[in-house]
Amino acid sequence: MFVGHYGVSFAAKRVAPTIPLWALFVAVQLLDVFWAPFILLGIEKVRIVPGITASNPLDLYYMPYTHSLLAALLWSAAALLVYRLFARWSPVGKAAFVVALAVFSHWILDFLVHRPDLPLYDNTAKVGLGLWNFPAVAFALEAGLLFSGMWLYFGRGGVPRLRMVVFGLVMLAIQAYVFFGPPPASDKAAAWTALVAYAVFAAVVARLERPNRASPA
Ligand SMILES: [Zn+2]
Repeated sequence: MFVGHYGVSFAAKRVAPTIPLWALFVAVQLLDVFWAPFILLGIEKVRIVPGITASNPLDLYYMPYTHSLLAALLWSAAALLVYRLFARWSPVGKAAFVVALAVFSHWILDFLVHRPDLPLYDNTAKVGLGLWNFPAVAFALEAGLLFSGMWLYFGRGGVPRLRMVVFGLVMLAIQAYVFFGPPPASDKAAAWTALVAYAVFAAVVARLERPNRASPA
C-alpha cells in the first residue's frame, strides 16, 4: 500500500491534534522508511518481477526486519518510546500511543494488498490477502482510505481543506503512475523512489499545515 496509509495519518490527527501531520506521515510509512535504506544496503531484498501481481511488480522476498509482524510490533513500540522521549510539542500519553498505532497500521494495510510476502516473524509464515491482484479494487481502497481519513480530519474545522484535497489528488495521481505505469528500473530505483516520495510528502504536508499568516483572521 502507498498513499492509502496517509488516511490513517489524517484520522490520527483528528484523534490527537497535538501531533504534527508530518510526524504522522512519517509514522504510517515508518516500516517503509527503514525498508528503503535496508534495500539500498542489501540488508533486505526485493527483485522486480513484472506480473508477479497485477498492479505491483515487486517480489518482496526478504524483509524480516521491517515487514514481519513481530518487527512491526517492535518498531511501533520503539516509536512510542522515541515519541515520549523527544516530542516537546505535545503532552505525552495518548499522543505517543496514537503514534505507535499509526506505525502499526502500516502492517495491517500492507496485509490487505500484499501477496503472501509479509512474514509473521523472521522470514517465515508469510501472509497477505493479495488485493494487488485486483488493481481497480486496490486503487479504490487507497483512494477511499486517503480521502475518508482526510474527511475525518476536516471535521476538526480550521484546516486548509482545498489545499489538502489538491495535495491528496496529486498523491493519488502519483499512486496511479506507480500502479499503472512502467515497473521500476531496479530494486534500488524502487527503494529510492519510495524514500524520496515519503520525504517530499512529509515536507509538503508540514508546509500545508502551517497556518497561513497572510490571510486575514
Ligand atoms: Zn510497506
